[in-house]
Amino acid sequence: MVATASTCVLLDCGFSLKETVSRLARLDLCLEDLDAVLCTHEHSDHAKGVAPLARKSGIPLFMTQGTWLARDYGEVPDLQLIKNYEAFALGDLHIQPVAVPHDAREPAQFVFSEGSKRLGVLTDLGCVTPHIIAAYAECDALLLEANHDLDMLWEGPYPPSLKSRVASDWGHLNNQQALQLLESLISPRLQTVVLGHISQKNNHLDRVRAAVDGAGLVGAEHRMHYACQDEGFAWLEL
Ligand SMILES: [Zn+2]
Ligand SMILES: [Zn+2]
Repeated sequence: MVATASTCVLLDCGFSLKETVSRLARLDLCLEDLDAVLCTHEHSDHAKGVAPLARKSGIPLFMTQGTWLARDYGEVPDLQLIKNYEAFALGDLHIQPVAVPHDAREPAQFVFSEGSKRLGVLTDLGCVTPHIIAAYAECDALLLEANHDLDMLWEGPYPPSLKSRVASDWGHLNNQQALQLLESLISPRLQTVVLGHISQKNNHLDRVRAAVDGAGLVGAEHRMHYACQDEGFAWLEL
C-alpha cells in the first residue's frame, strides 16, 4: 500500500476479497479509500485478488499488456495498460514502472515519487541489472526482496526443478544478492529499508538478520524493517 495525503494505491493483491478487506482494516482503511490497484505480474501471490477487488470497488487496475495477457482475470471495469514501462501519474503520485528479470511475461516493479520523496518497491527478480541500479538510485525508502537463503533453498522441500527456477536469473533474489544490491543503492538519502517477500519455506528471519549483520552496512541497522507474510508491516512514514 502506498499513500500520500490525497492518493492511496494498492500494489498487488494475492488474497481473497475478504482477506484483503480485513488486512486493509488493520491499516484503518476500507475499499472506498483506494484510488487504484497496480499489479506487478501474473503470479498468483501478486495477481489473484486484483480483479475481484477492482470489480468490487470499480477502481482502475494498472498492469502491463503482458501481465494482462498472461492470466484470465475475468471482467475488469477499468483496465489501464502500462505501455513500454512509461511513467504515469495518479493524483499527486508519479509512478515509474521498471523492467525486471523474472519468469513472468512482462513484469514491472515500481518507483513512486511525490514531491521530493522517492519510494522504490522491488520484489520478484532473479538478478540485478544496471538498469535496475539506475532506476532505484536515490530513493528515500526501499522495499526489497530477500526471498531465500541459498542453503535453505537447496536443502528445502521444493522439487529440484522449482529450486533451480527460484535460484536462476529469472527467479528471486537470495539474501546475499539482496544485500549486495542494497550496498550499491545505499546513500545518505536512504532512510528506510524493508526486506520482504521472505520465503516461509526457504528462508528464516534469523538468516536474513544474520546476512544483514554480516554485510556490515554501516549505520543501516536502525532503518531496517522486515515484512513477514502473515502480519505484513505497519505504515512507515517518509
Ligand atoms: Zn512473488
Ligand atoms: Zn513472481
